[in-house]
Amino acid sequence: MNVESAVDGDALRRDVERTAAFGAVESEAGRGRTALPADAANAQARDYFVERLEAAGLDVRVDAVGNIAGRWTPPSADPDAAPVAAGSHLDSVPRGGVFDGVLGVYAALEAVRSLQRRAVAPSRPLDVVCFTGEEGTRFADGVLGSTVASGKRGVEETLALSDGDVTLDAALSEAGYRGTGRLDAGAWDSWLELHIEQTTRLRDAGVPLGVVTDITGTARCHVTIEGEADHSGTTGMGERRDALAAASELVLAVEERATDAAADGSGTAVGTVGRLDVEPNTVNVVPGAVSLRLDLRSVERPEIRTQLDAVKRALEDIEAERGVGTTFDCDYDVPPTSLSERCRRTVADAARARGIETAAVHSGAGHDTMQVADVTDAALLFVASENGHSHSPRERADWADCTTATAVLTDALADLATTTDH
Ligand SMILES: [Zn+2]
Repeated sequence: MNVESAVDGDALRRDVERTAAFGAVESEAGRGRTALPADAANAQARDYFVERLEAAGLDVRVDAVGNIAGRWTPPSADPDAAPVAAGSHLDSVPRGGVFDGVLGVYAALEAVRSLQRRAVAPSRPLDVVCFTGEEGTRFADGVLGSTVASGKRGVEETLALSDGDVTLDAALSEAGYRGTGRLDAGAWDSWLELHIEQTTRLRDAGVPLGVVTDITGTARCHVTIEGEADHSGTTGMGERRDALAAASELVLAVEERATDAAADGSGTAVGTVGRLDVEPNTVNVVPGAVSLRLDLRSVERPEIRTQLDAVKRALEDIEAERGVGTTFDCDYDVPPTSLSERCRRTVADAARARGIETAAVHSGAGHDTMQVADVTDAALLFVASENGHSHSPRERADWADCTTATAVLTDALADLATTTDH
């Protein structure tokens, strides 16, 4: 079968570009978008999505936390069979890219439209899904809707989350997406998410499509260093307890330990100090106190542990050598997620059957799929990014690659939806 005849790349592009118009951000690098969970732009994107689902004849359902699912139950399917689902998210970070999330939602819809045009007879219903609040820019740290769909956070508790001004409940009601019940990812036979890659590994390898093996785990820690604030002119170099100089040593230690962990292990370890608050942060005062936020990741949990231990030891050394006081607290610990062998094999087989090369890659970023993967078989597919930029209007993918990836997604969904003997 031929890619062009099976998948309508123009329709996919139209849907993605239409969505980019809601909350559009024009920049020198091109168009980006700002659509925070349940804001006006996100509501417009949702309205358009529901319209497109209905135009394809799908039964639309909105759950209590605003997750949207459009179900196609072909005549060949047992309506009570566990559905096969695919999708992603329609929210963005401020000034985000137009592909992030949106591509996965509309690739899933185009896959269903394409199956409707083909002589296939799926034995399971198919769900096209948009999860609420994947990016963590409002109400929660991220993967909000999928956390509820996987049963890890309750509906009431989630609706009560606030952005400081309004609750999710009120914001969803205002947007028209405070539905009822709970989308249950555990009821799905399987799940596939197509997403733009957020680095250049696929482009560099000359491969249009990646099949993700593992999604990284993440530990986040809070470090404080207490020195002594003093006059920058009258305090001699031997008399200081400079909290920022001590913090600088820690920043470099995090970089070094992450580099070591990556070199010694799976190659996926990364460590970042992304936030530094300095007191009093004044040009003529020796810094008295610094607080730092650490983000340590790897697809191998022991490598995160190794980094944590090494950074803690470095902090103890700094404390002893510089006479500063320190605290070290980790408040966020998401384990790595391995993705389903069955789903990955189905995707790889579908690509091979079309003569499309794929690469096995890992994901250094969290995605809704990591929540879904805890309750059913799930896979994550990456389309090559042209430049690796993400969370930026510079984000770009080749439309032909998007069409190719959607064709593979379509075949994989068809396979999953017609295979009953597993
Ligand atoms: Zn995304």
